[in-house]
Amino acid sequence: MLKSLALVILVSGIVACQSNSTDKAAVVSQSAAKPAVSTGITPLDTAAIMRRKQIPVLCYHQIRDWRSTDSKSAKDDIVQIAAFKEHIKMLADQGYHSILPDQLYDYLTTGAPLPSKPIMFTFDDTDLDQFTIAAPELKKYNFKAVYFIMTVSIGRPHYMTKAQIKQLSDEGNIIGSHTWDHHPFTKLSGKDWEIQLDKPTKKLEEITGKPIKYFAYPFGLWNKEGLPELHKRGFKAAFQLSTKRYPTDPLMTIRRIIDSGHWNSKNLLSNVQRDF
Ligand SMILES: [Zn+2]
Repeated sequence: MLKSLALVILVSGIVACQSNSTDKAAVVSQSAAKPAVSTGITPLDTAAIMRRKQIPVLCYHQIRDWRSTDSKSAKDDIVQIAAFKEHIKMLADQGYHSILPDQLYDYLTTGAPLPSKPIMFTFDDTDLDQFTIAAPELKKYNFKAVYFIMTVSIGRPHYMTKAQIKQLSDEGNIIGSHTWDHHPFTKLSGKDWEIQLDKPTKKLEEITGKPIKYFAYPFGLWNKEGLPELHKRGFKAAFQLSTKRYPTDPLMTIRRIIDSGHWNSKNLLSNVQRDF
């Protein structure tokens, strides 16, 4: 079942974290059960985290020109090359400074200062164009980013290789986990945790030589029953898409918005300013 899903994802070539309205993404169970494992953060801290101003986090997938076969909704997740360059230049011109997850974590948990106009860039799904197109563009403006890797695709056509992932890490970007084969987090149970969390972490740590501390939910989907599994494994924070944070565990439900392929620079700026 996992293999067939992976095949569908890889064959489709449109591995998207999200293709519909982002507000439909999170599945929050109504169960009142308490997490089995402590978050390590007291309720008082959690309230403080919730009160801090959220920092904009952008989510990207493919950076390439559209093909005639791309559907309208697929284009949400495909930012064309010229548009991507304009968007990044606009953010630099506006005075934004990229931050990385440790900075965000310290800010959220301790109030540690951030540079002016902080923003975080994140890239999901291991697409090769993130290495060939996006990374060099970000470098022009001294921006760093987070790459959430789906480990099943490493080294396959149109996806990054181990060496490319290592290079991104060596150049000061952060490598995070995006599961093995993009199986929805909300459906994981039993041995899945080992397959979708433990093994990918081990593989990415072998590639980068650094601990893997951050996670992004496939399709942005999360449920509170699964959050203890992330805490148990030492993840410091996890990134969803744009649904509301879980007030009991805001570090595991950090919001992101997708920079849509349908947006121009002005659209992006107004969405960044409005949503965070
Ligand atoms: Zn994804």
